[in-house]
Amino acid sequence: MTEHEASPMSEHEQPLIYARAVISFTTAVMDTETVEEVLWLLTDDVIADLGFEDCVVYLVDETRQKLVQRAAYGNKKAGVTEILNPIELEIGEGLTGRCAAERQPILVNDLSNDSSYVLDDMARLSELAVPILSGGEIIGVIDSEHSSKNFYTAQHVMTLEALSSIITTRYESSKALRQLEKSQARLHHLAHFDSLSELPNRHHFITSLEQAARRFDDGEVTSVAVLILDLDRFKLINDTYGHATGDELIRRVSERFRDALPESVLVSRLSGDEFAALVTDESSVDAVAVGELLLASIESPISLKAADVKISASIGIAIHKPLPEVLTAASNTMSSTYWHCDATSLMKLADSAMYKAKADGRGHAVLGSVLGETPLLSDLNLEAAINEGLLNNEFEIYLQPLVDLVTEDVIGFESLVRWRHPEVGLVSPMQFIDFAERSGQIRAIDIRVLQQSRQCLDELRRGGREDLSINVNVSASLLSRPDWLDGPTGANFTKGLNVEVTERSVIADMDAAVLTLAELRSRGVRVFIDDFGIGYSSLSYLQLLPCDVIKIDKSFTAGLGVSDVSLSLVKLLVALAEAMDVTLVAEGIETHEQLEIVEGLGVDCGQGYLLAKPMPAAEIWAFLEKGFKIQRD
Ligand code: C2E
Ligand code: CA
Ligand code: CA
Repeated sequence: MTEHEASPMSEHEQPLIYARAVISFTTAVMDTETVEEVLWLLTDDVIADLGFEDCVVYLVDETRQKLVQRAAYGNKKAGVTEILNPIELEIGEGLTGRCAAERQPILVNDLSNDSSYVLDDMARLSELAVPILSGGEIIGVIDSEHSSKNFYTAQHVMTLEALSSIITTRYESSKALRQLEKSQARLHHLAHFDSLSELPNRHHFITSLEQAARRFDDGEVTSVAVLILDLDRFKLINDTYGHATGDELIRRVSERFRDALPESVLVSRLSGDEFAALVTDESSVDAVAVGELLLASIESPISLKAADVKISASIGIAIHKPLPEVLTAASNTMSSTYWHCDATSLMKLADSAMYKAKADGRGHAVLGSVLGETPLLSDLNLEAAINEGLLNNEFEIYLQPLVDLVTEDVIGFESLVRWRHPEVGLVSPMQFIDFAERSGQIRAIDIRVLQQSRQCLDELRRGGREDLSINVNVSASLLSRPDWLDGPTGANFTKGLNVEVTERSVIADMDAAVLTLAELRSRGVRVFIDDFGIGYSSLSYLQLLPCDVIKIDKSFTAGLGVSDVSLSLVKLLVALAEAMDVTLVAEGIETHEQLEIVEGLGVDCGQGYLLAKPMPAAEIWAFLEKGFKIQRD
């Protein structure tokens, strides 16, 4: 056999070996990640099996419309994925170029007479070029040369065509993949960002919150806070100026929020006019500061195409922190899994705090704070109107029963102030208490309530009901002045007239409050800590405060049956109350399910619409005479 004779492979062996080469290429291609890899796989692993001396794969460079050598076998292979002296061909140039131009395999059995032959590394005598096509377009050429004449057979042509079509498939799928990746990136953006505000959307927010919650459980962060912000009276703007203006406002407000917060805080648009922020201890600011920054960012009017508008917002905050020591001690029977951080519960708590904020207009940043809500009357008129109301005795009390959950007896009432305004009608305290606290008028209101409550108590006593007590809510301004008890109003306090104080009012002036409360207790007054659980510092202050009863805040009662955090908190409070020897009241019981849960957990007393609604003082005798029973379903 001479150098110029064809391969020694026998005729009948060939098809089998070629078929095997094609099949192994088909399967090996599946593990490749790029077209480049596919080409090298072809030249490294397949070509030798075909008995070829040399092979070069060209791809079309789309921008320059040239054939570029991309992989090689034989002399032209220099390194692992390197071609020795790569050359480029025009489409139509040489046999390879012609194959590309004609999109047909070209087989030349004797190159010695072919004037179009392009010499690459060395002169050879036969050549086979097979196009690689995609959708009828040329994308490359597989070119092989051999030093013998008549080397290539019809079998070789078929085999290279088969290999070429495999490359095509792989090329097309990787192109499809690239397109898919592009559209996935678009989809990802659509799925995570809100198109109107360009802020991350609810889905993104919840995913990030869940991640933060997991990190809390893993001990990587020590607090997770959610703020839910709702624009006040956005609907009015939408209705007045139309949706385009509403959209414009959302965009502008979103910009302000984004600019106001550091990048460490995730701010997103949940829906409509509702936004949320996620704060952990890793953020450079705390949740309350974030609330303040958000509110401050929209303080100045926003000029829209249609009008300049002034917008305010209400924010609810829910914070998950590690259990303070006092609770951990009280709850030694409970597993720490109770305190796991739950995204859903945090959202619900922040949401209910936001509604509370909307409803009662408190201008401070705790759970349930109300920020920016305008009261019923404008501030200017309000002060004058309250003064007028005080003069005309427009403030009256409604009484809401407190019920012993074991005996099902009414044990007393809470006095809740109402303002019977001659034009507006019955006004909720949520509309004016906060304002009155700021204007200082709360003292006068509290004193009216105190006097009326005392009258009621005296009436109950006269009617033989020494067992019943009446609670009054006292504000910070009274608590911080112990000497007030020496005046005529102080004289109203007697056994049976109890006070409800919130942590917030106590914290305003802790030392004075402790003195006032101690003095009240010495007169037989029982001290109730109101709205317990929604402040930050609850537990540490609780140890210092002289108190007899803890009232679990409505928002936790509302969370029972929906939020594990509420359930855990109430469970822990039951343990805490036992450890501290104080009575526990669940307020805001509205459903049978909530009632069953608090009863099941061993909460002593309850208050709420399900048990009895607040009623005018004049109605309590009729209520008591009817005989109270808990309505079971
Ligand atoms: P608070 O002391 O937490 O009073 C309980 C509030 O919850 C009352 O609202 C009561 O009507 C409401 N409530 C009772 N049961 C339920 C229930 O099942 N579900 C729900 N959602 N709510 C229930 P109200 O009367 O509007 O009083 C609101 C707040 O105004 C009071 O909250 C208290 O902080 C303040 N307030 C009321 N009266 C006075 C007062 O005489 N002096 C002072 N300083 N503050 C007062
Ligand atoms: Ca209260
Ligand atoms: Ca309360």
